[in-house]
Amino acid sequence: MVSGRPRRPPGGSVRPVFTVHARADGSRARAGTLVTAHGEIATPVFMPVGTRATVKTQPLAQLERLGAPMLLANTYHLMLRPGAEVFARFGGIHGWTGWRGAVLTDSGGFQVFSLARDCVITEDGARFRTATDGPIVTLTPESSIAMQRAIGSDVMMVFDHCVPSTASEAEARAAMERTTRWARRSRDARGDSAQQLFAIVQGACHPALRRASADALTDLGGFDGYAIGGLAVGEQADVRNDVTELTTERLPEDRPRYLMGLGTPTDLLDGVHRGVDLFDCIVPTAWAQHGRAFTSRGKVDLRRGAHRLDDAPLDPACDCDACARHPRSYLHHLIKAGEPVGWQLLAFHNLRFYVRLMADVRAAIASGTFTALYAARREVLARPEREEC
Ligand SMILES: [Zn+2]
Repeated sequence: MVSGRPRRPPGGSVRPVFTVHARADGSRARAGTLVTAHGEIATPVFMPVGTRATVKTQPLAQLERLGAPMLLANTYHLMLRPGAEVFARFGGIHGWTGWRGAVLTDSGGFQVFSLARDCVITEDGARFRTATDGPIVTLTPESSIAMQRAIGSDVMMVFDHCVPSTASEAEARAAMERTTRWARRSRDARGDSAQQLFAIVQGACHPALRRASADALTDLGGFDGYAIGGLAVGEQADVRNDVTELTTERLPEDRPRYLMGLGTPTDLLDGVHRGVDLFDCIVPTAWAQHGRAFTSRGKVDLRRGAHRLDDAPLDPACDCDACARHPRSYLHHLIKAGEPVGWQLLAFHNLRFYVRLMADVRAAIASGTFTALYAARREVLARPEREEC
């Protein structure tokens, strides 16, 4: 049975859950703390993606060693399988999975946009199929929040209407204005839950729409944080950076900002530089599946034949098993042979790289050296893979 889940105090006022401790000179980067029901999260922070309540290839004991304080899970997938009943039976995602850290749930808006078939969006919500000839599924702001309450995440997201980042002004405006109306419904559906709720800024790549979205959601109030949605879907990096910057400039200073679905380590550095506090992305595990790793000396492609007799560690500066216990030659073999443990080892390495990068970023912001670290790390990460040394 569900029990002991915290409730909001009467009146539903938003409690201060986020504190900024330090700001970087010459940058919008900031270091802070996000207080959740499952720990205090030092920001900027990267959240590994656990779409189906598991981070690909990483069992719970591995995740606990990783040092990541917060995971992302997806309402769309968990609604379809295993369904709300399982979460109710086991007391939410923490009781079911054994994960003791914090969890943020996406609302399903992006998956409706990217995965659903025969999708029809109306003012009420989205009606779609998950497979050809599959049953029709409905997702609304109210049902998304109900599912997120059943999951018991620490941070819920409002249900939003996503459109391509290249959408016309008219299409993007209609989706953005609907997202604002759905944000109000999501907020009202939250009821007495003490779970935090973040609103989502939309507006594609139209600066005026992004500003209008940020202003409307701020005026609406009642949100613990704000996300920037609808990016990382094919737009150019400089366009994304501009949209990110003009949006963070508009959002309240005392609320966390979450750039959804982004990105490579360079993307994270660019986001932090523009005032973003939270990130999630599948890149660490997805790159690992194809034998590609981020290291302190640059990117490495372990599929290359040059690694067949390579006795060097993947990254001498890394403390993970892949780096501490195996030569590149063995990792190259595992990847070339398609052995699952090769993906597992590299996925943990890449995730550990992200976690350590964010720790270095936080330390640099606190010590006044962020802009130097930003330039140095971007330079290393920009090297072509064959030039890592
Ligand atoms: Zn490593």
